Amino acid sequence: MSYHVNEQGYYGDFGGAYIPEMLYPNVEELRQNYLSITSEESFRKEFDDLLRDYVGRPTPLYYANQLSEKYNTRIYLKREDLCHTGAHKVNNTIGQILLAKRLGKNRIIAETGAGQHGVATATVCALMGIECVVYMGEVDIERQAPNVARMKMLGATVVPATSGSKTLKDATNEAIRDWINNPTNTHYIIGSVVGPHPYPDMVARFQSVISREIKWQLKQKEGREQPDYIVACVGGGSNAAGAYYHFLDQSEVNIIAVEAAGKGIDTGESAATSVLGKTGIIHGSKTLLMQTPDGQITEPYSISAGLDYPGVGPMHAQLYASGRAEFMSITDRQAMEAGLELSKLEGIIPAIETSHALAIFKQRSFTPSDLIVVNLSGRGDKDLNTYIKYFDL
Ligand SMILES: *Cc1c(COP(=O)(O)O)cnc(C)c1O
Repeated sequence: MSYHVNEQGYYGDFGGAYIPEMLYPNVEELRQNYLSITSEESFRKEFDDLLRDYVGRPTPLYYANQLSEKYNTRIYLKREDLCHTGAHKVNNTIGQILLAKRLGKNRIIAETGAGQHGVATATVCALMGIECVVYMGEVDIERQAPNVARMKMLGATVVPATSGSKTLKDATNEAIRDWINNPTNTHYIIGSVVGPHPYPDMVARFQSVISREIKWQLKQKEGREQPDYIVACVGGGSNAAGAYYHFLDQSEVNIIAVEAAGKGIDTGESAATSVLGKTGIIHGSKTLLMQTPDGQITEPYSISAGLDYPGVGPMHAQLYASGRAEFMSITDRQAMEAGLELSKLEGIIPAIETSHALAIFKQRSFTPSDLIVVNLSGRGDKDLNTYIKYFDL
């Protein structure tokens, strides 16, 4: 059994491209070209050069001494928080903008909820001198003022989505409408391993640099390429997909996926998609999502904006359904405490999304010899206000 995508764009029963007819030419152009373009020598070189000189890769693999001591096991942190813009998202936006250029596109659109993906997209558009339009729910624009300001400084146009709940799904609808109307000159940059095929596979490949580096870094430090456990938080699932990618088919590497339980699995205020979700279609992909009995998508909740998504990418749906990965859910409270703990023990303030992955050490035990790599998906600067309010700092 393979955990990678098949020729038809499926991970087991999940994935595919369930899209309106009007979108077919755009998605098909991408599907036909993404593998050949991204395997060209000149593409690889430009991608690798930018990851090194602009993003700051390779990111360190850091042995967390005090954290390891506290939980009596061996914990490495993969430092995606040290990427330019403060998280892993830029690995993907760099890849997609290089692909867009080669497809002859001179305009980029994106949708964003918390604004992190919008900033990562606006950043690479500034880098390449390409027009950038970011759709964002009107409510989110108010809630995420600093990221809106960043996008504007970077030269992007932020367009408010004013329909429905005025949040992420409405922004997504607007972006899709735009893409249908501008099929020839525009590329739509999706920010996680979600959406119709080929997006989940394409984004996973761009993020797979994370596990490629982990392998040689572990070899240098431990004399072996494989950890016993690879751990990551899952919103849509892109940092996790990147961290797991080169270990997916190696059954001796245990995979742990950490979702946001919000205020608790049974409270109705959560984003624990795998536990609470049922198979359905969201954003053009068949996957697990939270929905009412008659199939309406349920509004998710998490204290961390990046995990506040009602579905997971199809790769993760299959990792869950097949039992290949162990899924854990972590509450707001458990995550916030783990974020504070890492700050005090290691001098690293993590993004609240990442804090969810760090919180597993209080919920589950490991042996002293276990070698665990946690993907530190982002830094906590953007979350300072939430930490301040929560802990009354
Ligand atoms: C966006 C984000 C996430 C969640 O997105 P994935 O696609 O699941 O990785 C996690 N951590 C950080 C720091 C983020 O910015």
